[in-house]
Amino acid sequence: MTAGRGLIFLGAPGSGKGTQAQILATDLQIPHISTGDMLRQAIADATPLGQQAKSYMEQGELVPDDLILGLIQERLGQPDAQKGWILDGFPRNQSQAEFLDNLLTQIHHEVGWVINLHVNDDVIVQRLLQRGRADDQEETIRHRLEVYREKTAPLLAFYQAAQKLHTVNGDRSMEAISDSLRMLLTT
Ligand code: AMP
Repeated sequence: MTAGRGLIFLGAPGSGKGTQAQILATDLQIPHISTGDMLRQAIADATPLGQQAKSYMEQGELVPDDLILGLIQERLGQPDAQKGWILDGFPRNQSQAEFLDNLLTQIHHEVGWVINLHVNDDVIVQRLLQRGRADDQEETIRHRLEVYREKTAPLLAFYQAAQKLHTVNGDRSMEAISDSLRMLLTT
């Protein structure tokens, strides 16, 4: 991947985007930047950010933008992100997507592809119930899916219009999905 070019993984919670983002990041030797992981780490470390984010996460709500935007700006400015990066879980709404666009222009980076890992809702609920993370209670899962549909799914049209979007069928084996993604990135 050329300098400052990144990938964005969009997809509902439980679509497998975190797993695929990590596999690709290892392949391409660029950082996997997951805002969910960063927030869970902040909670584990009991930082002020973690304390502010915790209740939103437990309820399956998005954490307010002002807690996230600075975090992303700082992370994309770090040396290991200068060759490229994979964003997983960001942007999550229109204002985050606009912020990212402006930030990337400022720092002379660009979005290569936006990957939409598509999986049907019933499969997602089953997968998340099996995962058993703190915010993976059935009611919270359903709420996270609603939040995804309302706030994040509209970004698909945003990136489609920018001719960046590529939809991949996420209801397949981990290996089959990784193979599709590798093919996409080498063409
Ligand atoms: P994830 O690991 O991406 O599924 O994120 C878990 C939770 O962290 C979400 O349900 C949100 O509460 C919060 N979160 C992660 N990324 C963001 C973001 N970009 N904006 C707002 N909240 C986020």
